[in-house]
Amino acid sequence: MDEKSYSDLLKKVKSSVQKREEKKRFQIPKPEIITEGKLTIIKNFRDIVEVINRDESHIFKYLIKQFGLSGDVADGRLIFKGKPPEGSIDKAFQEYLRTYVQCYECGNYDTEMIREFRNEVIRCKACGAERPLYAHKEIKYSEEKIEEGKTYELEITDLNRDGDGLSIKGDITVIIPGAKKGQKVTVRIDRIRKNYALGIMVKKA
Ligand SMILES: [Zn+2]
Repeated sequence: MDEKSYSDLLKKVKSSVQKREEKKRFQIPKPEIITEGKLTIIKNFRDIVEVINRDESHIFKYLIKQFGLSGDVADGRLIFKGKPPEGSIDKAFQEYLRTYVQCYECGNYDTEMIREFRNEVIRCKACGAERPLYAHKEIKYSEEKIEEGKTYELEITDLNRDGDGLSIKGDITVIIPGAKKGQKVTVRIDRIRKNYALGIMVKKA
């Protein structure tokens, strides 16, 4: 075998190994659910948490809330005190992934949760896309554009989890600290990212 075809072969092997490793890494384990008396247990809870790279207590609280049960995490297992309906744990888990983990641009689950503008943002490690955490709520798109440094009259249609006001302008969600839901405010756009911006309230209506 000549040197060129050998190095080509090496490249092929390397890339196929890489692909396989990526696939392995982002295969999210299915919850393994067992019951013990009155308890329902996700045996591999910690394994799942490690793969999806989110805060354990965040997922725990989310799942517990869905069923109105109390529970615990012990030895890497999530224990519900009670019996959620058949299939409902899988469903809640899928919803968690969709809301807090998945990239909406490329569908990847290799993402991280970061904070920007006092707001939680999901950043995709595969394609680099970012979205604010609340973006799963319906966003009305229009052709309106906003620019940094300019002021706009905006209506606060929602709040984020920190209580900052949110307003949709075109395909951008503007975060306005200090504004209340339902308020009409004059806002100067401070910074713009891909699909969200930070606005400074300059006047309340
Ligand atoms: Zn992506």
